Amino acid sequence: MAAKKLCTLVKKGLHKEDPEAYKELLRGARYACKRCGRAAARAKCLCKPTRL
Ligand SMILES: [Zn+2]
Repeated sequence: MAAKKLCTLVKKGLHKEDPEAYKELLRGARYACKRCGRAAARAKCLCKPTRL
């Protein structure tokens, strides 16, 4: 899977179109996006990552 930002994918409806892929990105989340309020396991998945 290409390294796209979770923030972008959610705006495109990933959580509805591919809930499994979405859950995979959230699994073990250690970072949150300051701009969007999303959480993800990897900082590179977020546009403004900050440690949780
Ligand atoms: Zn973001």
